[in-house]
Amino acid sequence: MMTMRAAVMQQTKQPLTIRDVELGPLKPGDVLVKIGASSICHTDLEVLEGELKYPLPIILGHEAAGTIAEVGADVSDLSVGDMVALHWNPHCGHCYYCDHDQPILCEPYTKNRAVGHHYDGECRHQMDGEDLHMLMYLGGFAEYAIVPRQSAVKMPDGMPVDRACLLGCGVMTGFGAASNVARTAWGETAAIIGCGAIGLSAVQGARMNGASKIIAIDLDDKKLEITKICGATHTINASKGDAVAEVKALSSGRGADAVYECAGSERVFQESIMMCRPGGQVVWLGKVNVDQHVSFKWGALMGERRIVRSSYGGARPEQDFPAMADAYLNGQLKLDEMITGRIALDEINDGFDLLRRGEAIRTVIMM
Ligand SMILES: [Zn+2]
Ligand SMILES: [Zn+2]
Repeated sequence: MMTMRAAVMQQTKQPLTIRDVELGPLKPGDVLVKIGASSICHTDLEVLEGELKYPLPIILGHEAAGTIAEVGADVSDLSVGDMVALHWNPHCGHCYYCDHDQPILCEPYTKNRAVGHHYDGECRHQMDGEDLHMLMYLGGFAEYAIVPRQSAVKMPDGMPVDRACLLGCGVMTGFGAASNVARTAWGETAAIIGCGAIGLSAVQGARMNGASKIIAIDLDDKKLEITKICGATHTINASKGDAVAEVKALSSGRGADAVYECAGSERVFQESIMMCRPGGQVVWLGKVNVDQHVSFKWGALMGERRIVRSSYGGARPEQDFPAMADAYLNGQLKLDEMITGRIALDEINDGFDLLRRGEAIRTVIMM
């Protein structure tokens, strides 16, 4: 057992508190990671606002990277000092869903995640003598994390830790949506609605997989400027016109071959279908409150469109993370532009305020 500092969520809609908590002990299949950087994702905010329900108290944070501080007795392929990016989809490899090549639905993964403890269903955190929960098997807003070996992916030399953490959720989700889920083909037209970290990554996934026309749509001109650095060929400020009509005008009246919904609002879910061509693909990445109903005109769903929901961009972190890190290091994948601020753990509530106000793409907590 060790003592460390962590940002703890004790109640919904209340500021996190920085507390001393106990972590450990390490089990044979675990690694102990000294967190170097941890960024705030919209899902963390959804938990804090009570839109996604988890047992409390809990350590949020699921986009994190750091260095291996200790390895469990059964871990032979990672060493102390290795830099790793963490992912939140440990999976068993042999349940019904893993066998159907859907690790994101892995049975033990899904079951234990809701409990808010470690992947084996047991608790590794204590506070004031009571069990403390962790979000998505990481609990990244802390000085250290204990994760199963498979959740830690070694980074190539030279990868900065504050860029590495971004790969863990938003970048993987957006980039993977275009590369793994929609399987973008050369010459396609892609439309991306909502240009936060996920949307900016979908723009880049579309570009790097060969889309020739990439239409970025947002309400914020500053974010639209960044999409151009990331590879958008056209931008639309949806507050100034009819985005559906503009996408159709840019695609010979048909609509885009692939549409990525990265905004998380009912209206955008509806529009994502309307701006997709018949026979095209719609990938939903955003979320609304789990109890909210979203309605569609039945006619809008006709036309053989393929509508897919993806929560992690078809992630295969052991393949995708090092490849994305290499793409960053050789200048193909833009990550610097997503970091809108760097703060200390004590300033974490300021980071959440920025996200609430829509003023952050990614605020990175430097440990
Ligand atoms: Zn499984
Ligand atoms: Zn996330």
